[in-house]
Amino acid sequence: MSEHPTDRLLARRHRVESPLTLVAVTRGSSGSAYVPQEVPIMRTQQESDHEGAAAGSDPPAASYRLPAGTIRPETALGQALLEEAYLKHDRPRCPCQPTGVPMYIAKVGARYLVKRMPDTGAQHALECGSYAPEDVSGVGQLLGGAVRVDPDSGQAVLRLGFRLSVGERAAPEGGGAADAHDSVTGSPKRLSLRELLDYLWHEADLVAWSPGMTGRRHWGLIAALLGQTAGAARAKGHPLTERLYVPEPFRLDRKAEIAARRLNAWQRAVARRGQTQQLMVLIAEVKAIEPARFGHKLVLKHLPDAPLFLAEDLHRKLTRRFADELDLWAAEEQGHLVAIATFTVGRGGSATAEEVALMPTTAQWLPYPDPYAKVLVQALVDQGRRFRTVPRFSCPSSVDLPVVVLTDCEEPQPLRVCVDSSSTDLEEPFLAGWEWTWHVAAAMPSLPAARR
Ligand SMILES: [Zn+2]
Repeated sequence: MSEHPTDRLLARRHRVESPLTLVAVTRGSSGSAYVPQEVPIMRTQQESDHEGAAAGSDPPAASYRLPAGTIRPETALGQALLEEAYLKHDRPRCPCQPTGVPMYIAKVGARYLVKRMPDTGAQHALECGSYAPEDVSGVGQLLGGAVRVDPDSGQAVLRLGFRLSVGERAAPEGGGAADAHDSVTGSPKRLSLRELLDYLWHEADLVAWSPGMTGRRHWGLIAALLGQTAGAARAKGHPLTERLYVPEPFRLDRKAEIAARRLNAWQRAVARRGQTQQLMVLIAEVKAIEPARFGHKLVLKHLPDAPLFLAEDLHRKLTRRFADELDLWAAEEQGHLVAIATFTVGRGGSATAEEVALMPTTAQWLPYPDPYAKVLVQALVDQGRRFRTVPRFSCPSSVDLPVVVLTDCEEPQPLRVCVDSSSTDLEEPFLAGWEWTWHVAAAMPSLPAARR
């Protein structure tokens, strides 16, 4: 029996966005990466869309279809059936479409998650939490090249364009991210550091916004979602979680305990005589960039006792390559600047960056590429709209991509910002049927109305 659209909307309105406790994101025995434990977590949008009943909201929870029957992943029975399906390589289907949209099962620690298959985001109903406009974003360009998904395990295999051990070929001059946004090849074979951040942010659905998320997106949640996403990815032959460090929320009363966990997680990147120096990847919010005794340092939020040191030439490259991002950050006091870096750890326990990339976000942690996009995103947040920001990855600038796709209209509504009207006016739009474009030389047109 098909569900009436109004029911789905109602279900969506009641969607669970309350803080929960995630205890299940754990790793195997080698134990180096930070494992969020008892982090208050808002479920991912996919999960919460399909778990309405878990927190006692009235509408029936949407669920996933398996050969064994319909399951809800948050229940013990759901987990047991997912485990069985995982071992048998059965594919759950999302019931948002009559025929069902294939999903995959990711095992993250001890927990089984149902996740969207890459490149199927646009097949989901607009109301479905798994909807993602991959057809009008740069994500599609990565698939099959820099990102390959093993259909059996559901693991994404990421090809990285930067090194994770000193034995590998050095990163390209200027940092791997240098050509990310002005590449003309269009189809990257490897992810730059900044593209890895964009990819994780996108897959963790941190590019999605709905008014119910107001005040709920805090660092503990972001760290947990990034950890979950990394848990379903491998790079250079290893689980990404072994190399990724995302600081847990800092608490003064647990300072020593947190520092001990961090040093433990960083063991892999400590220099050891007779062994190849390994690197780790850090994702954290930048608080300040300051001169240090030698070179400079990134002072990071939630890491008050562990700055990331930058050699002078890296600092120079960073300020040159990411001048626009730093400028956007300076101009937006409410916003955040997210850094992703590869780093090594000295014998004294301090972290030194090898490569750094930066991503400015709004106060809601939504990434934006320029001041116009920021104004647009802010207007949408202020008006209580539901939308997703669209990462470009290495799409050439000649390809028109929307900045945002509204998900609260009858159809996905791409919103485009045209910064250079002299050139882009002449080009064929990437997607036929653009309805909303803001030519920044003129006032911003009024936004398409939300469906009520
Ligand atoms: Zn769906």
